[in-house]
Amino acid sequence: MKIPDNTNLADAVLSGEVPWPLNPERPYDAPRICPLCGRRMVVKISPMAWEAACSRHGILRSEWVER
Ligand SMILES: [Zn+2]
Repeated sequence: MKIPDNTNLADAVLSGEVPWPLNPERPYDAPRICPLCGRRMVVKISPMAWEAACSRHGILRSEWVER
């Protein structure tokens, strides 16, 4: 899958436009479905982090949303 250069999803989450966590009961889970368009996301999970990518809205990384 080609991942776009844009950061629409990360921007939406970090600006608060998309409430985070998506699932308050499982705040550390990677998103499986893009909250902007509902497409299935490609998720890579490592022991300490995850990275999820939407083919339209770009990448979101766990390190960006953990506080
Ligand atoms: Zn999307």
